[in-house]
Amino acid sequence: MRKVIFVSFVVILLLGCSGRKTSSPSAGATPAPGTNPPSAGAVIEFVWDTLVPDVFASENHKYGFDKDPKSKFYPELAKDIYVSVKKGEAAKVSLQLSNSYNKHSLFNVTTQQMVVDCCTNKATELELSEGHYEIYGDNMPLDRHIHVIGYNEKTVPAEYVQFDAEDGLCFDEGCYSFEGVKENFDRVYSQAVTKNAFVERSHSDFSLNKILTFNLTAPIQGDELMKEFHDMVMHNINSEQNRIIFAINSIEWEWNVYVEQFDTLLLNNYLHANLESTHNVLISSCGVATQAQKSLLTVLGLDRKNQVAKVLIPNASSYSPCVSIKMESELPVLPTGIKILSETAFSKTAQVAYNYLSADNKVIRSMIYAPRFMGEHSLNVILHELGHSLGLFDVFKDETEGTYVYINGNEFATSEANIMTYTMPTGPKLRYRDLQAVITSTNNIIEDVYENQWNCINLSDCNPKR
Ligand SMILES: [Zn+2]
Repeated sequence: MRKVIFVSFVVILLLGCSGRKTSSPSAGATPAPGTNPPSAGAVIEFVWDTLVPDVFASENHKYGFDKDPKSKFYPELAKDIYVSVKKGEAAKVSLQLSNSYNKHSLFNVTTQQMVVDCCTNKATELELSEGHYEIYGDNMPLDRHIHVIGYNEKTVPAEYVQFDAEDGLCFDEGCYSFEGVKENFDRVYSQAVTKNAFVERSHSDFSLNKILTFNLTAPIQGDELMKEFHDMVMHNINSEQNRIIFAINSIEWEWNVYVEQFDTLLLNNYLHANLESTHNVLISSCGVATQAQKSLLTVLGLDRKNQVAKVLIPNASSYSPCVSIKMESELPVLPTGIKILSETAFSKTAQVAYNYLSADNKVIRSMIYAPRFMGEHSLNVILHELGHSLGLFDVFKDETEGTYVYINGNEFATSEANIMTYTMPTGPKLRYRDLQAVITSTNNIIEDVYENQWNCINLSDCNPKR
């Protein structure tokens, strides 16, 4: 028996509100726990690793490093630190110890051996093999533990298909490329000693054109168009692969509209296309291979209740009776999950993963539809969906934990934010310590469901409750 579940990553898009930046990863300030940061003040460099004394990640360590993010504010929470490593290799850990002791030692709990005077210097880099360690100050155990967890290297196969605009150009750092997605997958999932084995596939293998076009002519309710599209892809799929990524740099919207003698038209589903003010469009005759003509669409009025835009397109009537209008989306967003919140803002499901599950709730097939965003956020989101395809839950975001950085109305990506938190700010972190699972697209916890992300990814030991 198989079932399909739909998991998604939701962002709030404030449309019609210019100047919003979704990501600026290197900047930020550090709010105190439980408080909102001041709304005014300088943007300072966000330096995580120096905030907690004692053990921190070495720049030379290639795998995972998991220290409780709350330890930034409550150092006693830093007592268990998990470090992942490929079996047979040594973990590299930096120690920065206090002046309170004359010498420090490291007790290897696994071999019962004491390494005396291991780390008297203020900053010491240690190479540790798989096992459990405790730090001693003089001859006292300090209740500081380093757990080095060894994993065999895992590879994750996937097929990758990319959609671009007609001119093929995409310049923002959030644009997807095959090499870029592979490189970032390895950067993030190396925390669980896991790397990509992706291959690139052609659009025609999925019976799709090079330009990804959604037709908005008929009125659409919620996810209808997206579900229809997904069903069509699944029906036409020419692939044995169990994980397929549609990396979407551009989406084109299309309407086929009957015109009278004027150039004024009514277009359905304007929210999907973010139709406000003016847009460059291509017009041609419906269903006929004629030369398309460039024109300028001007929005004359919006019927918000019915999602109908009244627009003016010069020369549209020359294509009477039916004109085809094609418009490239400014930032590609899937035609799914629209809910109107106010006149100028609405939320959409941004990226989705359709997971097919076995009877025991393991992911056996995954389809990921990933429209790009701007900047680093874009890469974090596609990797979030890949996380779902590996069986990961969305995780609870505790806004007091210090990974939540919010300044002057902007949220910032931080290096400690988890890849599986469902909303901004995004970050690349994957953890060994159990994290609280939440219901997809909400921050509502699922009682008694926790997940060890490294074990889920590397050992497929994911929480089976779905
Ligand atoms: Zn998610």
